[in-house]
Amino acid sequence: MEKNVLIYSNNNPQSLKLKEELITKIKATDIRIVDENEAPDFIISIGGDGTLLSAFHEFKHYVNSTRFIGIHTGHLGFYTDWQNFELDEVIEGIRQSKGESVSYPLLKVEMTLTDNSTKNDLALNEFSVRSFKGTMVCEVYIKEHFFETFRGDGICISTPTGSTGLNKALGGAVIHPRLDAIQLTEMASVNNRVYRTLSSSMIIPRDEWFVLHLTDEEDDRSISIDNMSFNHMPVKMIRLQLAAERIRFASFRHMHFWDRVENSFIGRKQGRLQGQPSGSMKYLK
Ligand code: NAP
Ligand code: MN
Repeated sequence: MEKNVLIYSNNNPQSLKLKEELITKIKATDIRIVDENEAPDFIISIGGDGTLLSAFHEFKHYVNSTRFIGIHTGHLGFYTDWQNFELDEVIEGIRQSKGESVSYPLLKVEMTLTDNSTKNDLALNEFSVRSFKGTMVCEVYIKEHFFETFRGDGICISTPTGSTGLNKALGGAVIHPRLDAIQLTEMASVNNRVYRTLSSSMIIPRDEWFVLHLTDEEDDRSISIDNMSFNHMPVKMIRLQLAAERIRFASFRHMHFWDRVENSFIGRKQGRLQGQPSGSMKYLK
């Protein structure tokens, strides 16, 4: 069956060159290259994780019908599996593909603004809210139950695949993307005899949600959704829960999540147990 692909790249010269190379190779096959007006079977992102985040947001209306493929032109990323010299494997994978995919959870973000209008979005990595000036005060609800009053710089809520991004920098746990969960991490909470928050990060399942109720008078917030920031956002309430939609990636080959984590954050080493080299999990299914 004929396959359609959409190619998205960042503007770095290496990525643009690779994009041209890929287009030439694809044109010699029965795969069709489409533009943004046609639903593609595959979206190929060329660049880094940030490029894939941009591709996701540009084409999220196709999320239920498309599979993403990330080719990296920098370093191995969390959403980019393929290297610049593997174009032939990618093309052959697409041609032979029978719909194999791996899917990851997305975060549904529902914001209520001070004029009571609403704004909804999906996040692949995380949502965060912070105050511009002074302490942000925010009531945190889990489902409909009041949990705590947070005072501090801000709050981040991430997906499992986003757990290695901003969440990790804030001291959150790295979560295996097969788990259907979201994680709340604090940014510099005020904790003393008067004000108290849980302080550790919190992980909740699919059927629970967070509501952040911004209770101070300030309506000048900075909101981030993945690689996008919105300053001066007059938001007063945000509801965050796992979305019904999931993002799908083509899975022509298997890469072990913990190998990726190790490769990104630890680097090569040798384990003493059985003299195992690191990265050996990729050979296990
Ligand atoms: P960026 O400033 O280039 O991102 C910072 C770094 O985070 C880059 O190295 C990026 O990889 C990497 N990254 C992105 N998503 C990741 C993930 N799921 N797991 C591990 N690393 C990830 O900005 P960007 O490329 O537009 O990416 C936006 C994301 O960066 C945000 O969603 C947030 O998760 C992350 N971020 C991290 C920090 C931090 O660690 N202190 C601060 C702000 C934002 P590439 O180089 O491949 O793009
Ligand atoms: Mn980036």
